[in-house]
Amino acid sequence: MSDIQTVSATLDVEIFVDCPNDECGELIDILKEKETNGFNHDDDAFLLRQVWPSGIVTHDDFECSDITCSKCKTTFNVKGLE
Ligand SMILES: [Zn+2]
Repeated sequence: MSDIQTVSATLDVEIFVDCPNDECGELIDILKEKETNGFNHDDDAFLLRQVWPSGIVTHDDFECSDITCSKCKTTFNVKGLE
């Protein structure tokens, strides 16, 4: 018997964007509904599948539309992932 323990892992992912409203500038994690005005942008892993793309898709193609900042209610699109 080995005495090496096995534990489960937790994946914690954050995708940050800056709110484009100059008067707001909120740093928004677009995976968190409470930061995107209550909307889940990662339905069916829409965002995570773009973070780890398969085939010819690149991070330049990363996109998410109609994100609303919870703080100032500005709606904007995201294109590209650094
Ligand atoms: Zn904002």
